[in-house]
Amino acid sequence: MTDEMTVMDLYEKYCDRIKSTGSSQYTSLCPFPDHPDRNPSFSFNTLSTKYYCFGCSVSGNAITFAQFFGEDPTPFYSDDYKSNRTLINNGKTTVKNKTVTPKLDLTDKAEEYHENLGVNYDDEYHAQRVGHHKGVLVFPYFDKDGNVDGFKFHKPKERTEGNMKKRWYLEWMIEYYPRNEFLIIAEGEKDALTLLHKGYYAVSSSGGARTVPDILKVFKEFKGIIICYDNDKAGRDGAPPMAQAIYDALGIICQIAKWRDGLPDKYDISDDKDGKEFVFAMDQRYEFRPNPTNKTRKGYNLISITEALKLDIPKPGMIVEDILNECGNTLLAATDNVGKSMMANQIACCIATGTDFLGYRVPKPRKVALVQHEMENGEQLDRLHKQTVRFLEMHPDLMTKNLSMHIIEDDENLLVTDQFEVIENTLINDPDIDVMVFDNIGQSTTVEMSKPDAIRNELKRLKAICRKYNVAFLLVAHHVKVDYDKHMDMKKEHIQGGKPVTDWADNVVQLQTSSINPSLVLFKITKIRSVHDKDGITTKLINQAVRFNQDNDLLFTNRMAISNWEAHFKATDKYDREMEYLRELGRRDVFTTLEALNESALITPPISEATIKGRWLPKFCKYGWLEKVRHGHYKVSDEMKVMLNDPSLTGTQL
Ligand SMILES: [Zn+2]
Repeated sequence: MTDEMTVMDLYEKYCDRIKSTGSSQYTSLCPFPDHPDRNPSFSFNTLSTKYYCFGCSVSGNAITFAQFFGEDPTPFYSDDYKSNRTLINNGKTTVKNKTVTPKLDLTDKAEEYHENLGVNYDDEYHAQRVGHHKGVLVFPYFDKDGNVDGFKFHKPKERTEGNMKKRWYLEWMIEYYPRNEFLIIAEGEKDALTLLHKGYYAVSSSGGARTVPDILKVFKEFKGIIICYDNDKAGRDGAPPMAQAIYDALGIICQIAKWRDGLPDKYDISDDKDGKEFVFAMDQRYEFRPNPTNKTRKGYNLISITEALKLDIPKPGMIVEDILNECGNTLLAATDNVGKSMMANQIACCIATGTDFLGYRVPKPRKVALVQHEMENGEQLDRLHKQTVRFLEMHPDLMTKNLSMHIIEDDENLLVTDQFEVIENTLINDPDIDVMVFDNIGQSTTVEMSKPDAIRNELKRLKAICRKYNVAFLLVAHHVKVDYDKHMDMKKEHIQGGKPVTDWADNVVQLQTSSINPSLVLFKITKIRSVHDKDGITTKLINQAVRFNQDNDLLFTNRMAISNWEAHFKATDKYDREMEYLRELGRRDVFTTLEALNESALITPPISEATIKGRWLPKFCKYGWLEKVRHGHYKVSDEMKVMLNDPSLTGTQL
């Protein structure tokens, strides 16, 4: 191997304004006398010893450089260099008695084609030995040794010759590209050369926008990668798979250039003579949104059952019984003004302090980060002041240690900020976080909650974050507009985003304010992926309600089972008179139909006897508001008495 220092000594002697732009990669003013270079356009690599000038297209290696400037080239005849030369042969080469197939060498043919190129082409075409054959342009592809091993014949009869399966055009130039610049992926060879001529650093896929060659590790060294394909469907469809492949291989998020609206179909870089449209397309570029990398496997890893039983794969641990598991994703959903954000805060406090939540076990305290988008900061802080009093009194140390929060500032532009990236950075900075409470999912991304595929992709990313950082998410979600009057229940289908969202979630908790008593919040767990109770008992799909202490500490207490569930979904305003009537009836223990009819005269405006007898009494019995003691005798149910007064007094406490 040639010593990089020796190579540097050589270049340093003749090149001015040398600047490092990457490992072994440098730029400088062009030292060749024919090229008066003002901006450093000369590039050399001390590892490969090769150079290329983006201004005058001169190229070579340390040997040719030394020879040109009258220096001794012998130090640069490396072992590698010599062995490479001997392998290239037009006939069969015998290496240690073993016959090897010689590498394809189309170099001479390329030179023939190149002689036909003519003069009307940029220097880059000559430097890249582009040729002409039967009226079409021929782009040679070079192998590692600088020999041509493939051709791409340009339109109209596009075809290839030689080793041309998924290649990068100009791959051999990358070693000269400064790493402090963007690497641009263009759609075709002409585009790549046009960009090179304009002072950009480009490559293109031999298959155009449709194919993705193996992603090169060296891409990672650049300032960034920008994909700029043609202004047509193939170009627009081709950019995302390329960007995704780069993300999968290197974890880099590419940018995609966007042409000006109204440009003709199929407009491309080579059409843009003065380069203005390209600059505009670059200015309009946007960040690609990758799907989480999915390592595709060719088959299942099969192990014997006896081996499998020896494996100790623990079930995900419980964070909050029935509600949240380690690495799990839980949705807490409700319509507006039910108190879901406040319930999320309370759950966060319970997890941070290891306090049971409404009777659901929280086995141990864990580190929680609370991320809030929903409200003005002052409002959230005001709520937290009230909500945390009890927790701070009982567990001041745990609260300080385990509960942190982030409030999205007003000036944080949610439209341009990828919140998942923010989440990921938060987790990188604070890897001990076990749970992220996120309020709310609708505002976490710029994706519209009405587009299932887009949502699915976003949720996949979130799942990948869960696994990668071993963190659980409690996401506050919205209900769509539901006609509760008709449905009289809470169902997963009511959650905004629909099936993709609820399929993705491990657990789902849904809330709705009771229409009978506004301080009662109906509480139903509609999905539990992993059951922890050894007998399999859960509260899934049990009709429950909790008391919301709206005027006090904004905490939820008194979880209880509800039997007259459907009645709690009737719109309150329609039931004012029914409630008033029931309250009157509730003053008695058992009453007869006649007494009920007499009572009806007392409410204003009075209700007809026919309505009471034919509609109200049967309906109240059906809702469980009244119990029929015996024929013609009723009483207001205990549960209803509680609802009419204060749900915290009694009720079936769980
Ligand atoms: Zn030059």
